[in-house]
Amino acid sequence: MRFALVNPAWSFEGSIYFGCREPHLPLEYGYARALLEAAGHEATVIDAQARGLADGALRDEVAALRADAIVVTTAPSYLFWRCAPPELRVPQQALRALHGLPGLRLAVGPHASTTPRATLRKLGVDAVVMGECEDVLVELADRPRSRWGEIDSIAWLEGDEARVQGGPRASDMGRLPALRWDEATVARHAHHHHRFDAAPIGPGAEVEASRGCPYHCTFCAKDNFREGYRKRPLDVLLDELDGLVAQGVRYVYFIDEIFLPDRPLLEALVDRPVSFGVQMRVDNWSREMLDLLGRAGCVSIEAGVESITREGRSLLAKRCKLSTEQLGDLLIHAKQSVPFVQANLIQSPTDDPADVAAFRERLRQHGVWANEPVPMFPYPGSPEYTMRWGAPDDQAWERSVAHYLDRFDRFSDLQDSRPLPLSALEIAPPGHG
Ligand code: SF4
Repeated sequence: MRFALVNPAWSFEGSIYFGCREPHLPLEYGYARALLEAAGHEATVIDAQARGLADGALRDEVAALRADAIVVTTAPSYLFWRCAPPELRVPQQALRALHGLPGLRLAVGPHASTTPRATLRKLGVDAVVMGECEDVLVELADRPRSRWGEIDSIAWLEGDEARVQGGPRASDMGRLPALRWDEATVARHAHHHHRFDAAPIGPGAEVEASRGCPYHCTFCAKDNFREGYRKRPLDVLLDELDGLVAQGVRYVYFIDEIFLPDRPLLEALVDRPVSFGVQMRVDNWSREMLDLLGRAGCVSIEAGVESITREGRSLLAKRCKLSTEQLGDLLIHAKQSVPFVQANLIQSPTDDPADVAAFRERLRQHGVWANEPVPMFPYPGSPEYTMRWGAPDDQAWERSVAHYLDRFDRFSDLQDSRPLPLSALEIAPPGHG
């Protein structure tokens, strides 16, 4: 089969989305393409976001491929599956631009994983993949529709009936190869994600050393993908990194949910001419390993502290054994060898604003940045959502956005200043309004 793997041209007007708006490498499509090709299929990644493709140009490219299956994702790369735009407006617009072209329509992403029936209906596709998508796309390619009943981790339309089969898939990281990106893709990737120490020199890239996380913080939307902690084989990761370096990349961002201390990886990075950024929990790191992290080339740390009280962290199920002062001490220590260190805070009823200000000021005096606490969005697929409302149903995204808009009137400076409810952002599917 011939696959078109489409990353739409994302836009975020009216969205509560607070992630980075720059294009990033769609790692999930990179792996999917490699696995599809290894299984004898053809696959082309069409990254309309990175290439700024308007609807007409996207349609022309997909039409020229004469694809048997067109895949659309509901989040701008794996990096943002845990904080995707709640609305499906952009994937809907991409599918509308492709209307009338031959081929199956498939969707992957956090919405497909957490609310498969609603995503099937809103996007009007033939099937959605629940969970990590790279293996499942190969299984869909290998079977005619009449045998889709054999495939776990999909929801699909059999006649008029939506069938949900199995639970979300977790990919076997040992099967995922070193990713290769063509020269044009790398050359246009000027963005250095979450880098603030220096102006970007040369292209950047995103990679992953691991997937998933052993914790279950209440606000973290990973119940249905990238959940269990798994590492990539080190030789495969280094092969990928060396390929990127040979293409001129001098900065990579590890998209790992939680970049855990890994001495062999860090020692392998020390002599490679590449800087990198990570997101992590500083309570997992000793001073010695933080020093090695800096020597290895880390220039950006984003560390989830969330609340400045033990009680607040406990309410968020952080399972953090350190005191707030110890967390601050480690962040300040990290700053000695890593040029940019950030502590993330979210609004907590246990945190006195004056104490938050004092914590932020102490860090600031040592060059560590801590954001003003931001409101928590109860993502469908997070424990917070499930504790409030039970398992996500077909109205889950609408419910979360309505709750958020109702509860908060000040938003992060990363967000649109006037976020709108989902009904105002999405295209109503046939038969709905
Ligand atoms: S440690 Fe980070 S990745 Fe892990 S559950 Fe908590 S917020 Fe999510």
